[in-house]
Amino acid sequence: MPIWGQVTGCECAWCDRGEFRATFLVKADHIVCSNCGRTRSCKPPIMGVVYAECACCGRGEKTSFVVDSEGTYICTNCGRRR
Ligand SMILES: [Zn+2]
Ligand SMILES: [Zn+2]
Repeated sequence: MPIWGQVTGCECAWCDRGEFRATFLVKADHIVCSNCGRTRSCKPPIMGVVYAECACCGRGEKTSFVVDSEGTYICTNCGRRR
């Protein structure tokens, strides 16, 4: 189910405060954190959110990735694409 409005439960490096989970609003060509306003470029709609380890964040913890319409995984925490 494509997501156009917002994605919740995401990690955001600038907003990371313990259990805090950011909400990203889905725009035409990026997502933007509703809390701090930082953006991550992607190709909406968002097809889903997956939780996995990000080699770039490197914390050994799961972070959140959004999957965009081209099948690209974008780490909401650091912006890495894969
Ligand atoms: Zn944020
Ligand atoms: Zn990352």
